[in-house]
Amino acid sequence: MSTERNATLFPFSDRSRELQSAVAGFVAQRIVPAEIAFHAHAADPQTRWTIPPLLESLKAEAKARGLWNLFLPDPMHGAGLSNLDYAPIAELTGRSLFAPEVFNCSAPDTGNMEVLLHFATPEQQAPWLPRLLAGEIRSAFAMTEPDVASSDATNIALPIVRDGDEFVINGRKWWTTGAGDPRCELLIVMGVTDPDAPAHRRQSMVLVPMATPGVRVLRPLTVFGYDDAPHGHVEI
Ligand SMILES: Cc1cc2nc3c(=O)[nH]c(=O)nc-3n(C[C@H](O)[C@H](O)[C@H](O)COP(=O)(O)OP(=O)(O)OC[C@H]3O[C@@H](n4cnc5c(N)ncnc54)[C@H](O)[C@@H]3O)c2cc1C
Repeated sequence: MSTERNATLFPFSDRSRELQSAVAGFVAQRIVPAEIAFHAHAADPQTRWTIPPLLESLKAEAKARGLWNLFLPDPMHGAGLSNLDYAPIAELTGRSLFAPEVFNCSAPDTGNMEVLLHFATPEQQAPWLPRLLAGEIRSAFAMTEPDVASSDATNIALPIVRDGDEFVINGRKWWTTGAGDPRCELLIVMGVTDPDAPAHRRQSMVLVPMATPGVRVLRPLTVFGYDDAPHGHVEI
């Protein structure tokens, strides 16, 4: 169903309409013309796993115009839009591979920021959430494992074992989107902390800094031949 038809059935707020117009203009005038440069950067073996400088300057411009964290319904930290009001904006940014990040609205950071906002303690939020909201760092979500059918999260097998004040995590994840990005500083890792519990209560998620000894990015995986540098979907 088209956005126009949806708008009749589910009317957007005035604020959403204003943002739709501003985002559409920014995508058309600032982002689409930059795509040639982005693709050239990603095609060059010397630069493809680095961040195009143009991306950071476009982010700064979008932020200055208030086109920032539009995905986040929380009005303190984000735009405070409902899903209905945000949906047409996501549709507009979906026109370009780079646009969601320019507005700090790209996966997996969006979901990770919401997880941190809703479920992390202030101590857990402090090192990560403000910098993610500011677009200074990126994050990744590590659930899928090569050895199990990971579409069913009850199959996830990576053990997370408490050892005094530490957790020992040994295992292999793959398809971890964004962990190839040099700015990625945080992994949200899903594993098993209580193997004897009922199937849906065995799992936990832990915050693992990318700089933790033992975290190793092994290789980028490809989809139809594309590795989606510089973010990648990597095996860790
Ligand atoms: C571009 C890309 C980005 C991704 N990013 C991330 C990421 O950031 N973090 C992350 O953790 N993962 C990520 N993934 C992985 C993705 O979440 C998994 O590929 C997906 O959940 C499926 O899991 P799987 O690959 O283990 O396939 P499987 O679970 O093995 O599924 C393979 C097929 O078997 C079917 N199947 C599975 N179990 C059963 C069953 N019991 N009965 C019948 N049929 C079954 C499924 O429907 C599917 O058709 C990404 C994948 C891609 C392609």
